[in-house]
Amino acid sequence: MELKNLTEDVVIELYDEIISGKAGICSCDKCRHDTIALALSHLKARYAGSGEGEVLVRLQLSDPQVRADVTMALLSASRTVQGRPHRRGI
Ligand SMILES: [Zn+2]
Repeated sequence: MELKNLTEDVVIELYDEIISGKAGICSCDKCRHDTIALALSHLKARYAGSGEGEVLVRLQLSDPQVRADVTMALLSASRTVQGRPHRRGI
């Protein structure tokens, strides 16, 4: 059985919606992955063990409060990642 942290899907979705393409935000893969990983480590993991469970978890994840929490975690993670010195290579 494959366990998947469904919070990850929301973090990635909101990263692409909110952080990606924002002025001053480096768009390299490293920053993207670091920001997503850092945000995830501050958020509650939500796992589903079955298709039915996944529907329920996805319903919880569509809650505006959950999405607000994910957005806050992403903004804070992005500040941390962008504040770090790093090589801006393509
Ligand atoms: Zn970068």
